Amino acid sequence: MRRILLSLVMALGTWAAQAALAQEAYRLELPPGSAAVDPAAGGSIQFIGTATVLIRYQGFTILTDPNFLHKGQKVHLGYGLTSERLTNPAVELADLPPIDLVILSHMHEDHFDREVQEKLDKAIPIVTTKEAAASLAKMGFQKRYPLGTWDALEVTKGAARLRITSAPGRHGKGLLAALLPSVMGSVLDFGDGKYRMYITGDTLVYDDLNEIPKRFPNMDLALLHLGGTRILGTFKVTMDGQDGVRMMQLIAPRTGVPIHYNDYDVFKSPLSDFQEAAKAAGLENKVVYLKHGEAYTFVPGKPEASSPPR
Ligand SMILES: [Zn+2]
Repeated sequence: MRRILLSLVMALGTWAAQAALAQEAYRLELPPGSAAVDPAAGGSIQFIGTATVLIRYQGFTILTDPNFLHKGQKVHLGYGLTSERLTNPAVELADLPPIDLVILSHMHEDHFDREVQEKLDKAIPIVTTKEAAASLAKMGFQKRYPLGTWDALEVTKGAARLRITSAPGRHGKGLLAALLPSVMGSVLDFGDGKYRMYITGDTLVYDDLNEIPKRFPNMDLALLHLGGTRILGTFKVTMDGQDGVRMMQLIAPRTGVPIHYNDYDVFKSPLSDFQEAAKAAGLENKVVYLKHGEAYTFVPGKPEASSPPR
């Protein structure tokens, strides 16, 4: 009897462990757009500043890590730490086009600032971590899609398809990670493998990320959160230039676009660190540099990455 009970408990334990590992899939059906979308049409990534970009492709308009503060304004990063913005966003919050959804890598004010918390339409769907979703609920945001690592959200808009998968991310090492918000990267798969994009989120390069290229090979584009952010002047909590190169080597995207650099005074690794490291690693022809406001445009299947005209 005891043995039967014991094996029952063990079986239950195994089931619970498997259930915990299972990836959840969620759905979001957006109202179809009015204009028909040409499946052969290209897309664009407009860099607004910090980690804020506008992704437009196949009828979807996606905003990432919305931060619309201006030069001189301060963000609070917890534990009494603040940071000053050194740049302006290329687009004002009030001038955004209609947004289908927001992807938020984590809840920090340089990614979801106080003005955004107050003024962003509370009905916009937001895809984010479980922890950030709980904060968004308190702020009154109604449509939250909290994802655990490797969970996926299937989004449809008319005939257009997009799958967003939450990828691992870690804002700090060891104990520091526990004191900082949980972070997710995201993999965007448009139209069943037509175009694949990875947004790193504010992460360091660590072992869990090795799983990303195994699950998601043939990455078309990677948006790299750089900046080599240091808190208390010491602890590195985002990738610096060298880390950005390691990330490019790990994920092996056809094109990498650095974002999240030079915008705040806690960003201690300037873009030039990454430019030099990328050049030394022979990656310069795989990187596209965008100034605030510039857009990278792509046409899936075209061999050449296209940079904005200089
Ligand atoms: Zn950040």
